[in-house]
Amino acid sequence: MSPQRLGQNFLTDRAVAERIVHSAEIDVESTVLEVGPGKGALTNQLAASAGTLTVIEFDRKLADSLQLRFAENERVDVVEADGRTVDPESLPLVLGRDYILVANLPYYAATPIIRNFLESKHPPERMIVMVQREVANEMQAEPGDMGMLSLAVQVYAEVRVLFEVPPEAFTPRPKVTAAVVQLTPRKEPLVPGQDQADFFRLARAGFKAPRKQLHNSLATGINVDTPLARSIIESAGIDSERRPATLSIPEWKSLFASWSNAGKPFVVHGTSRRERAEALKR
Ligand code: SAM
Repeated sequence: MSPQRLGQNFLTDRAVAERIVHSAEIDVESTVLEVGPGKGALTNQLAASAGTLTVIEFDRKLADSLQLRFAENERVDVVEADGRTVDPESLPLVLGRDYILVANLPYYAATPIIRNFLESKHPPERMIVMVQREVANEMQAEPGDMGMLSLAVQVYAEVRVLFEVPPEAFTPRPKVTAAVVQLTPRKEPLVPGQDQADFFRLARAGFKAPRKQLHNSLATGINVDTPLARSIIESAGIDSERRPATLSIPEWKSLFASWSNAGKPFVVHGTSRRERAEALKR
């Protein structure tokens, strides 16, 4: 992939790098994982303040050059891997430890990388990630403005947008403003593991026509007639004329229970992870 396609907008504003590292509240005991270290704008500071640092870089040239830079430092492990699929348990310095994830994420892969770690068997204790401002705001959105990404992140983590970063802080300059977000994974996801695939399938169906009233959107999404969609929604105690974006997570859970009682109509089973990945691309 070309540097542009790999989302290589390097942070060149030192004060912003310091602010990100400071937000991560790292000390000499911390196990830190950085995804997408690039030319190392955050990496040197992370290496200096953490107990151990593992970095995951997808671009071979950048990974090689970091390997050279940190060859003499046993507390730093540079791994050439894909942050969308890497298993944190496969990383020797991270295995069996609480860890903090810090990243200025490539925009094209930000949500799949976040999802990989949130849904991992070994999620970080907190994540400080820089993403596009719009993505940050959707992750943090409250009922009224929620989308599929808000649900997909908030089921697993508490979200707090910390601060914005203007395009001038990067080389080359991106077209959009960035924001740094803190994600704190919950001890238990709000939806139990065995229900997650179907829960997200229902939610995705519910957001199928986000500007429409919920009964129309859901009817389109799960391919049933509108009266049946309305009765499923109303059995959950929800006004079926509301817009999908107004539902809270507890309301989505009630809707999920009602839809389950109705026999989960018109759902094809067996492709959950891919469907959620697609939903997260929105
Ligand atoms: N951390 C550096 C900084 O702040 O200047 C670089 C940030 S740049 C926005 C994103 C980095 O992620 C690039 O170094 C890019 O090569 C790397 N990257 C792209 N796709 C990746 C992936 N799937 N897994 C891990 N790293 C990736």
